[in-house]
Amino acid sequence: MQHYLNYVDGEWRDASRQLTVMNPGTGEAYATVAQAGIEDADAAMAAARRCVDSGALSDVRPAQRTTWMLKAAEAIRAIADEGGLVGCRENGKSLNDARDEFIEAARYFEYYAGMADKIEGISVPLGKDYVDFTQYVPFGVSVQIVPWNFPVSICARSLAPALAAGNAVVIKSPEISPLAMTLLIKAVEEAGFPKGAVNLLCGKGSEVGSHLVQHADTNQIVFTGSVPTGQRILRDAAERATPSVMELGGKSAAIALADVDLDTLLASVKVGIFFNAGQVCSAMSRLLVQRSRYDEVKAAVVALAESLTIGQGEGNPDLTPVVSEDQQQRVLAMIEQARSEGATVLTGGVAPDLSGYFVAPTVIEATPDMSIAREEVFGPVLVIMPFDDEDHAVALANGTDFGLVAGVFGEGLNQTLRVANRLRGGQVFINEWFAGGIETPFGGVGLSGFGREKGQEAIYSYVQTRNIGIRLR
Ligand code: NAP
Repeated sequence: MQHYLNYVDGEWRDASRQLTVMNPGTGEAYATVAQAGIEDADAAMAAARRCVDSGALSDVRPAQRTTWMLKAAEAIRAIADEGGLVGCRENGKSLNDARDEFIEAARYFEYYAGMADKIEGISVPLGKDYVDFTQYVPFGVSVQIVPWNFPVSICARSLAPALAAGNAVVIKSPEISPLAMTLLIKAVEEAGFPKGAVNLLCGKGSEVGSHLVQHADTNQIVFTGSVPTGQRILRDAAERATPSVMELGGKSAAIALADVDLDTLLASVKVGIFFNAGQVCSAMSRLLVQRSRYDEVKAAVVALAESLTIGQGEGNPDLTPVVSEDQQQRVLAMIEQARSEGATVLTGGVAPDLSGYFVAPTVIEATPDMSIAREEVFGPVLVIMPFDDEDHAVALANGTDFGLVAGVFGEGLNQTLRVANRLRGGQVFINEWFAGGIETPFGGVGLSGFGREKGQEAIYSYVQTRNIGIRLR
């Protein structure tokens, strides 16, 4: 089995302990990784602090950072095939999707390379006796905690703008799926960033992650993960009032209006809830259908779920395994809970007879008060329910504590836009799901978090504002 290392202060380091990474497609051990401890975390923080204090990243001309970022993008693209295979085997996701994560990572570096030299200040006129200007300066050390569902692309999503803005970064990879991220960082290393600018720790969140977020040298926290962990980190961050970006979970609803085009809707349902086995923060986990079309849409969605190919990621099927046995059991238990609350499992709801950790594509008819309709499942489970009119649809869609994304499907521009304007979420899709890409701002409201990633706006998540006022004498 191959053994992967941590990256600290410009070198690859082993640790006295190790973690075993499983292949969820086979249920077998795949590789081992050095398990970082507190000392490794301190070493990474010290390296990042030295990099910040030296000015090697922040005090160079911005165009230099652009050059580094573009070199990183090229190196990431070059390893997309190799990295994709590792991502597929450690995570269970399809080979194509695992490879696409590297391409997306490269795009983040290209996109924010173009912004490194466009973080411009503002001058405020205060009269002839003053000169006043506002600068956007890096925080210093950015601690970034990454989840397992898209480890490579989510890592790059925060790393690229942080580096473009001149921050040094300490990354904590997810315990379940840390390997492809090490290949990403190897590629970034080739770009020649200053020593200590990028550090990667593979370790446990409860140990290393918790230590990093409470560290005295942490100037910013970027967390992507579940609501309970995010809440815990926010409590820890409150001790030092450390600025944070929180990208948390969701229970996103799509509204299918009476004039919905069925093919358009089905194409979005397929990607919305079954892509990456439903382990997507912005998954379409609820489908609300106007009553006049409900039976027709319900039958079509069940037929779609039953037509999907299921298999190992390397065969690029429609549905891949979930990430671990724990995750499989969690999802199945939530389905059982739904049954016990009176929900109807229309299809799926079981583990197919395959080696590996699969959950069959599942469609459940539920009412809004049931836990399956309110809580994030993070698996291939779609909840479907009818609505009577626009007000009812909006109330149902907005009726959870989350607010990540939402969608409206229908032919009339006025009605779809009117409904979209009333939906609670950081991003609303019309006649599409997962529309947009790295160029469009992304983030939540409510329990889905705060702060924005992606797009031009995200660069301002990685700088702090400093105003300088001068009285002329
Ligand atoms: P998680 O259990 O919250 O873990 C996320 C990360 O936090 C992991 O690296 C974890 O380390 C670490 N962690 C755990 N406890 C910690 C602590 N006390 N202090 C610091 N770090 C700690 O989430 P997950 O299961 O990996 O990911 C799934 C969740 O992420 C879902 O809720 C999903 O919706 C959300 N998500 C949100 C977005 C978004 O952009 N909004 C994107 C993707 C995923 P270990 O792995 O070692 O436990």
